[in-house]
Order: sequence, then C-alpha cells, then structure tokens
Amino acid sequence: MTNPRVFLRVKVLLAVLQLPTMIARKKKSRKSLNPQWLKTYGWLKYDEDKNFMYCEVCTKFSRKNSFHQNEKCQNYQHTTLVRHASLNDHQTALQIPELQKKSTSIQDKAALVLLKCVHWLCVENIPLSKFKSLLIISYWNNYFI
Ligand SMILES: [Zn+2]
Repeated sequence: MTNPRVFLRVKVLLAVLQLPTMIARKKKSRKSLNPQWLKTYGWLKYDEDKNFMYCEVCTKFSRKNSFHQNEKCQNYQHTTLVRHASLNDHQTALQIPELQKKSTSIQDKAALVLLKCVHWLCVENIPLSKFKSLLIISYWNNYFI
C-alpha cells in the first residue's frame, strides 16, 4: 500500500529536482539572436525586422545550406552556429575571396608584363610583329619572374 502523503512528497521532490533542468531548457530555447554572437562570428548577420539570422559569406557565394539568407534561419542555439562554422560548404565559401584575390593579382601581373613589352617595342621602334619572339625570349630568360 502506498501512503498518499509519501506519494505527494515524492512527486514534489521530483519536481524540485527537475527545476534546474527546466530552467536550463528554457534558457536554451531562445527566440532571438544573442547579440554577442555577431561579434564572435564575423560572417553572421541578423535581420531584425524579420527576426532571422544568416551567413553573409554563404549568401554572397550562393551556397545552398540552412544559413543562406533565403532560408531565414531561426534556430537560435549556439550549437547551430558552431555546426555551420565547421561545414565544408561554409569553409569553402570563406576561402573564395582569397582565391579570387590571388588569381586577379596573377592576371594583373601578366597583363603588366605584356604592356611593358609592347611599350618597349614602341619606344625602341621595333615592329609589333616581333612581339611574340620578344615574349618567347623573355620567358626563356626568366624576365617574367
Ligand atoms: Zn556560411
């Protein structure tokens, strides 16, 4: 036989023991962005009017993941951000500006070398038909380095 008073006490005791867990759960389930995250994650943007967050980099480079601006992510948990930051898709998107910068600078250097060659031909009054042989001899003598 169960004493109803003991049963009630056990029930109250269990409720008290679960209280910290319930408080922790309430804290975890945010319905808005923690402003500190914007400082921590430079790629993170927040649309205050529509209450959603997104990744500026993934949006800019049209990555198809849950942090693209069109997906309107409202999963306001820190683990969501950590998970996104570690995605290959996101990591690749972060490297795109660096890759573009390097390729542009190499192309700029090549164009500059070609312009200098044309300029030299003009200054020396050498026909442009010699342009190709000038490039070949310059290449073999490592003038482009
Ligand atoms: Zn991203």
